[in-house]
Amino acid sequence: MAARSRDVVAKPNPRNGRCRLISGNWKMNLNHLEAISLVQKLHYSLRDSDYQFTEISVHPPFTALRSIQLLLETDRIPISLGAQNCYFEGSGAYTGEVSASMLSKLGVKYVIVGHSERRDIFGESDEDVAMKANAVLGLQMTPIVCVGESLSQRERFETEGVIQSQVDAVVAAMSSELCEQLVFAYEPKWAIGSGVPAEPADAVVGANAVRSAIAKHHGEDVSSKVRIQYGGSVNSANAKEFLDQGEIDGLLVGGASLTAEAFTAVIQA
Ligand code: PEP
Repeated sequence: MAARSRDVVAKPNPRNGRCRLISGNWKMNLNHLEAISLVQKLHYSLRDSDYQFTEISVHPPFTALRSIQLLLETDRIPISLGAQNCYFEGSGAYTGEVSASMLSKLGVKYVIVGHSERRDIFGESDEDVAMKANAVLGLQMTPIVCVGESLSQRERFETEGVIQSQVDAVVAAMSSELCEQLVFAYEPKWAIGSGVPAEPADAVVGANAVRSAIAKHHGEDVSSKVRIQYGGSVNSANAKEFLDQGEIDGLLVGGASLTAEAFTAVIQA
């Protein structure tokens, strides 16, 4: 069926020239057999038109990447393959780590870097996140750089400052040519997995803080090309409200991407 071949490329949003991206972050869920089953069900429940204006990426655990790569290629499914993390070194004595080049060889297009769970549970610093983003870009893949404030930072009215310093760390020393390829995900930590999403207006404040931090280093033209997702307790009931905001170019979805029914409902919302 031609319209569902891997050659389908989502069209940019005519309002701003940026192509929407909805990404499913499966975290440490689903073995490779469950992952295959989910992608097959997702493919069957999505309509051709769902791919026209939105790029969809799935981010399985490392152990399922090869299986999902083969499924997407063999069945010509126009879903992009994503990873949840990588290490910034190219190779060497880093037990347990996976390099960007290993992901690139698996046909990975997007790599999430700096997810708040990586920052908080595994102690990743802004500098680590910047090095990971550069490693991903160096292999012609696209980092999805996660930024966002904690609840206590929000309560101290530090949201915009926190976002700006997280963005600064990634973009300050980067060329504008590379910077415009980035995707950012504004994910307030208190909204992730909590069932309490941000208000759409708060998500816009976060997205604007990302864009102005980029503009400070690279100018408005570059910053207007960068895509910014919102993430944090997105579901089919609230997805449209976020996507209706002109500054939000997509969604990073955790829990609601773990079943074909829920993820399809978000994409079709
Ligand atoms: C996430 O994992 O980035 C996320 C936003 O999770 P959830 O949608 O479950 O809040």
